[in-house]
Amino acid sequence: MVDVQLARRGIRDEAVLAAMREVPRERFVSEGMEEFAYDDAPLPIDAGQTISQPYIVAAMIEAAEIEPGDRVLEVGAGSGYAAAVISRIAKDVFAIERHEVLGHAARKRLEGLGYCNVELRIGDGTLGLPDEAPFDAILVSAGGPEVPRALKEQLKVGGGLVVPVGDAGEQSLCKITRTGTGSYAEEDLGAVRFVPLIGAQGWAEDGRRSA
Ligand code: SAM
Repeated sequence: MVDVQLARRGIRDEAVLAAMREVPRERFVSEGMEEFAYDDAPLPIDAGQTISQPYIVAAMIEAAEIEPGDRVLEVGAGSGYAAAVISRIAKDVFAIERHEVLGHAARKRLEGLGYCNVELRIGDGTLGLPDEAPFDAILVSAGGPEVPRALKEQLKVGGGLVVPVGDAGEQSLCKITRTGTGSYAEEDLGAVRFVPLIGAQGWAEDGRRSA
Protein backbone atom coordinates (compact mmCIF):
# COMPACT_ATOMS: atom_id res chain seq x y z
CA MET A 1 0.00 0.00 0.00
CA VAL A 2 2.72 2.47 0.98
CA ASP A 3 4.87 1.89 -2.13
CA VAL A 4 2.05 1.63 -4.68
CA GLN A 5 -0.66 3.95 -3.38
CA LEU A 6 1.35 6.54 -1.47
CA ALA A 7 4.99 6.91 -2.60
CA ARG A 8 4.17 6.43 -6.28
CA ARG A 9 1.37 9.00 -6.05
CA GLY A 10 3.63 11.66 -4.61
CA ILE A 11 3.74 11.29 -0.82
CA ARG A 12 7.38 12.17 -0.08
CA ASP A 13 7.60 12.79 3.68
CA GLU A 14 9.54 9.85 5.12
CA ALA A 15 7.97 10.25 8.56
CA VAL A 16 4.49 9.98 7.02
CA LEU A 17 5.45 6.93 4.94
CA ALA A 18 7.00 5.24 8.00
CA ALA A 19 3.91 5.96 10.13
CA MET A 20 1.62 4.58 7.42
CA ARG A 21 3.76 1.43 7.28
CA GLU A 22 3.60 1.01 11.05
CA VAL A 23 -0.14 1.35 11.77
CA PRO A 24 -2.15 -1.83 11.01
CA ARG A 25 -5.18 -0.53 9.07
CA GLU A 26 -6.83 -3.97 9.28
CA ARG A 27 -7.29 -3.36 13.04
CA PHE A 28 -9.35 -0.21 12.34
CA VAL A 29 -11.77 -1.45 9.66
CA SER A 30 -15.12 -3.06 10.53
CA GLU A 31 -15.28 -6.77 11.26
CA GLY A 32 -15.43 -8.70 8.00
CA MET A 33 -13.72 -5.94 5.99
CA GLU A 34 -10.12 -6.91 6.90
CA GLU A 35 -9.40 -8.30 3.44
CA PHE A 36 -10.06 -4.84 1.95
CA ALA A 37 -7.99 -2.96 4.55
CA TYR A 38 -5.16 -2.15 2.13
CA ASP A 39 -7.38 -1.24 -0.86
CA ASP A 40 -7.06 2.29 -2.20
CA ALA A 41 -10.52 3.23 -0.93
CA PRO A 42 -12.55 4.50 2.01
CA LEU A 43 -14.49 1.72 3.78
CA PRO A 44 -17.76 1.83 5.72
CA ILE A 45 -17.66 1.91 9.53
CA ASP A 46 -20.52 2.18 12.06
CA ALA A 47 -22.98 5.11 12.23
CA GLY A 48 -22.98 5.47 8.43
CA GLN A 49 -19.44 6.89 8.42
CA THR A 50 -16.18 5.85 6.70
CA ILE A 51 -12.53 5.22 7.42
CA SER A 52 -10.79 7.48 4.90
CA GLN A 53 -8.80 6.31 1.87
CA PRO A 54 -5.14 5.73 2.87
CA TYR A 55 -3.84 8.18 0.24
CA ILE A 56 -6.01 11.01 1.59
CA VAL A 57 -4.94 10.29 5.18
CA ALA A 58 -1.27 10.45 4.12
CA ALA A 59 -1.76 13.56 1.96
CA MET A 60 -3.49 15.45 4.78
CA ILE A 61 -0.86 14.52 7.34
CA GLU A 62 1.93 15.49 4.94
CA ALA A 63 0.22 18.82 4.23
CA ALA A 64 -0.05 19.54 7.95
CA GLU A 65 3.79 19.41 8.24
CA ILE A 66 3.72 17.79 11.68
CA GLU A 67 6.96 17.81 13.71
CA PRO A 68 7.95 15.32 16.46
CA GLY A 69 7.25 17.69 19.37
CA ASP A 70 3.85 18.84 18.08
CA ARG A 71 0.43 18.83 19.75
CA VAL A 72 -2.13 17.96 17.09
CA LEU A 73 -5.93 18.00 16.99
CA GLU A 74 -7.89 15.72 14.66
CA VAL A 75 -11.60 16.46 14.17
CA GLY A 76 -13.61 13.44 13.02
CA ALA A 77 -11.78 10.53 14.65
CA GLY A 78 -14.06 7.84 13.15
CA SER A 79 -12.22 4.53 13.58
CA GLY A 80 -9.17 6.23 15.15
CA TYR A 81 -6.93 5.25 12.21
CA ALA A 82 -5.72 8.73 11.19
CA ALA A 83 -5.16 9.65 14.85
CA ALA A 84 -3.01 6.53 15.24
CA VAL A 85 -0.93 7.47 12.18
CA ILE A 86 -0.51 11.05 13.43
CA SER A 87 0.52 9.70 16.85
CA ARG A 88 3.58 8.04 15.30
CA ILE A 89 4.87 11.51 14.26
CA ALA A 90 3.53 14.02 16.81
CA LYS A 91 4.06 14.20 20.57
CA ASP A 92 0.39 14.43 21.59
CA VAL A 93 -2.78 13.85 19.60
CA PHE A 94 -6.27 14.95 20.62
CA ALA A 95 -9.03 13.44 18.49
CA ILE A 96 -12.74 14.31 18.62
CA GLU A 97 -15.66 12.26 17.30
CA ARG A 98 -19.31 13.29 17.46
CA HIS A 99 -20.78 9.75 17.37
CA GLU A 100 -20.46 8.12 20.79
CA VAL A 101 -20.49 4.60 19.37
CA LEU A 102 -17.50 5.40 17.13
CA GLY A 103 -15.65 7.41 19.75
CA HIS A 104 -15.90 4.71 22.40
CA ALA A 105 -14.82 1.99 19.95
CA ALA A 106 -11.91 4.12 18.68
CA ARG A 107 -10.74 4.88 22.23
CA LYS A 108 -10.80 1.17 23.14
CA ARG A 109 -8.99 0.21 19.93
CA LEU A 110 -6.28 2.86 20.37
CA GLU A 111 -5.73 1.86 23.99
CA GLY A 112 -5.64 -1.82 23.05
CA LEU A 113 -3.01 -1.18 20.39
CA GLY A 114 -0.91 0.91 22.77
CA TYR A 115 -1.27 4.34 21.16
CA CYS A 116 -0.92 6.05 24.53
CA ASN A 117 -0.33 9.57 23.20
CA VAL A 118 -3.83 9.83 21.71
CA GLU A 119 -6.65 11.28 23.80
CA LEU A 120 -10.09 10.66 22.34
CA ARG A 121 -13.00 12.95 23.20
CA ILE A 122 -16.66 12.74 22.21
CA GLY A 123 -18.24 16.00 21.08
CA ASP A 124 -18.60 18.66 18.44
CA GLY A 125 -15.16 19.11 16.91
CA THR A 126 -16.15 22.24 14.97
CA LEU A 127 -15.64 24.02 18.30
CA GLY A 128 -12.18 22.50 18.72
CA LEU A 129 -10.84 21.81 22.19
CA PRO A 130 -10.40 25.17 23.95
CA ASP A 131 -9.01 23.49 27.09
CA GLU A 132 -6.10 21.97 25.14
CA ALA A 133 -5.47 24.77 22.59
CA PRO A 134 -3.35 26.08 20.98
CA PHE A 135 -2.30 23.35 18.53
CA ASP A 136 0.64 23.12 16.14
CA ALA A 137 -1.61 21.44 13.59
CA ILE A 138 -5.31 20.66 13.16
CA LEU A 139 -6.71 18.15 10.67
CA VAL A 140 -10.41 17.90 9.90
CA SER A 141 -11.57 14.58 8.44
CA ALA A 142 -15.06 15.77 7.40
CA GLY A 143 -16.18 18.57 5.08
CA GLY A 144 -17.94 21.74 6.24
CA PRO A 145 -19.46 24.76 4.47
CA GLU A 146 -16.58 26.98 5.58
CA VAL A 147 -13.48 26.86 7.76
CA PRO A 148 -14.66 26.70 11.41
CA ARG A 149 -13.60 29.97 13.08
CA ALA A 150 -12.92 28.21 16.42
CA LEU A 151 -10.35 25.95 14.77
CA LYS A 152 -8.50 28.88 13.17
CA GLU A 153 -8.38 30.58 16.55
CA GLN A 154 -6.97 27.44 18.23
CA LEU A 155 -3.92 27.31 15.91
CA LYS A 156 -0.52 28.44 17.13
CA VAL A 157 1.12 31.16 15.06
CA GLY A 158 2.95 29.23 12.32
CA GLY A 159 0.55 26.28 12.72
CA GLY A 160 -1.48 24.72 9.93
CA LEU A 161 -5.13 23.65 9.62
CA VAL A 162 -6.02 21.15 6.89
CA VAL A 163 -9.75 21.06 6.23
CA PRO A 164 -12.14 20.11 3.40
CA VAL A 165 -14.52 22.97 2.58
CA GLY A 166 -17.51 23.13 0.26
CA ASP A 167 -20.81 21.46 -0.59
CA ALA A 168 -21.14 17.69 -0.22
CA GLY A 169 -19.50 16.05 -3.21
CA GLU A 170 -17.47 19.08 -4.34
CA GLN A 171 -15.15 20.08 -1.53
CA SER A 172 -11.68 21.61 -1.77
CA LEU A 173 -8.99 20.58 0.65
CA CYS A 174 -7.76 23.86 2.18
CA LYS A 175 -4.65 24.54 4.17
CA ILE A 176 -4.88 27.54 6.46
CA THR A 177 -1.62 28.74 8.01
CA ARG A 178 -1.74 31.14 10.94
CA THR A 179 0.79 33.79 9.95
CA GLY A 180 0.19 36.17 12.88
CA THR A 181 -2.15 36.75 15.80
CA GLY A 182 -5.05 37.66 13.53
CA SER A 183 -3.70 36.80 10.08
CA TYR A 184 -3.96 33.65 8.02
CA ALA A 185 -2.75 32.41 4.61
CA GLU A 186 -4.90 30.03 2.59
CA GLU A 187 -3.90 27.42 0.01
CA ASP A 188 -6.13 25.14 -2.10
CA LEU A 189 -4.75 21.59 -2.16
CA GLY A 190 -7.30 20.20 -4.63
CA ALA A 191 -10.67 18.47 -4.86
CA VAL A 192 -11.72 15.90 -2.26
CA ARG A 193 -14.88 14.10 -1.13
CA PHE A 194 -15.59 13.73 2.60
CA VAL A 195 -18.62 12.94 4.76
CA PRO A 196 -20.25 16.11 6.19
CA LEU A 197 -18.82 17.99 9.15
CA ILE A 198 -21.90 18.35 11.37
CA GLY A 199 -21.84 20.84 14.22
CA ALA A 200 -22.20 24.40 15.45
CA GLN A 201 -19.62 25.69 12.95
CA GLY A 202 -20.36 23.10 10.25
CA TRP A 203 -23.53 21.71 8.68
CA ALA A 204 -26.73 21.23 10.67
CA GLU A 205 -28.17 17.70 10.95
CA ASP A 206 -30.69 18.53 8.18
CA GLY A 207 -27.91 19.47 5.76
CA ARG A 208 -28.34 23.24 6.08
CA ARG A 209 -25.54 25.54 7.15
CA SER A 210 -25.49 25.87 10.98
CA ALA A 211 -26.18 29.38 12.27
N1 SAM B 1 -10.37 9.97 10.47
C1 SAM B 1 -11.30 8.87 10.47
C2 SAM B 1 -10.60 7.54 10.47
O1 SAM B 1 -9.37 7.51 10.39
O2 SAM B 1 -11.30 6.53 10.59
C3 SAM B 1 -12.29 8.94 9.34
C4 SAM B 1 -13.26 9.96 9.57
S1 SAM B 1 -14.77 9.94 8.72
C5 SAM B 1 -14.30 10.26 7.08
C6 SAM B 1 -15.33 11.51 9.37
C7 SAM B 1 -15.77 11.47 10.79
O3 SAM B 1 -16.07 12.80 11.19
C8 SAM B 1 -17.04 10.66 11.02
O4 SAM B 1 -16.77 9.66 11.95
C9 SAM B 1 -18.03 11.70 11.57
O5 SAM B 1 -18.91 11.18 12.55
C10 SAM B 1 -17.09 12.73 12.15
N2 SAM B 1 -17.65 14.07 12.35
C11 SAM B 1 -18.45 14.80 11.55
N3 SAM B 1 -18.71 16.00 12.11
C12 SAM B 1 -18.05 16.03 13.29
C13 SAM B 1 -17.90 16.99 14.34
N4 SAM B 1 -18.49 18.20 14.30
N5 SAM B 1 -17.14 16.68 15.40
C14 SAM B 1 -16.52 15.48 15.49
N6 SAM B 1 -16.63 14.52 14.54
C15 SAM B 1 -17.36 14.80 13.45
